[in-house]
Amino acid sequence: MQLKEQRRNKRPETFVSHLASGLSEMIEIGLTGGIGSGKSTVAAMFADRGAVVLDSDSVVRELQAPGTPVFAEMVSHWGDRIVQNDGTLDRQELASIVFEDPVELQILNDIVHPAHAIEMEKRRAIYVDTDTILVFDIPLLVEVGRGGFDGVVVVDLEPEKAVERLVSDRGIEEGDARRRMANQATREERIEKADFVVENGGTRADLANEVERCWEWIESLPER
Ligand code: ATP
Repeated sequence: MQLKEQRRNKRPETFVSHLASGLSEMIEIGLTGGIGSGKSTVAAMFADRGAVVLDSDSVVRELQAPGTPVFAEMVSHWGDRIVQNDGTLDRQELASIVFEDPVELQILNDIVHPAHAIEMEKRRAIYVDTDTILVFDIPLLVEVGRGGFDGVVVVDLEPEKAVERLVSDRGIEEGDARRRMANQATREERIEKADFVVENGGTRADLANEVERCWEWIESLPER
């Protein structure tokens, strides 16, 4: 209700026309950040405040599960070397193939992207004509140049600190973390695309305060 009041003050004509048509408009936020910056932690904090989070990576993982058309196409291209003994995708092996060869990476993208776009749109469509705050958690948002959001939130963390957290909390090898970072946009490139930067260099309590500020900003966004 508070959200609607705020929107009413900002865009009276739009609000009235939506009232007349009985429609609301969702707010769509792109959430991104470097590896280990804290995207998932921030996404969970948004979800606690009532946002619906669409996690791009987990949709990819679902699409690549054994038995899916995407999985079948990948195995038909790369063979059994990308399948583990339990029948699931060997992500390490796939990563080692595509990290070293841009042609193979393009093939992977050509297999996965169309199905991914359809699935994300299907999930998004559920919330059209509602006043849901929809948060798209997309690690490579800046790299793929995805647009069309009401706002882009970037979680920012000094790369050295991100490596530290990934190694200590997640058990990722330092070299691996640095290699993945080198394949992503730089901190500066990401911040340049941000409408709102959430700083995550402090404690978790500091982060909660940052997220609260960001949430207030999201709620104040005018409808498109
Ligand atoms: P990835 O790029 O691998 O998906 P991510 O950007 O989603 O990572 P998170 O998983 O949210 O990042 O955070 C990385 C690690 O840092 C996690 O173990 C998380 O619990 C921890 N973390 C996040 N924020 C803080 C903080 N402010 N203080 C300490 N640890 C934190």
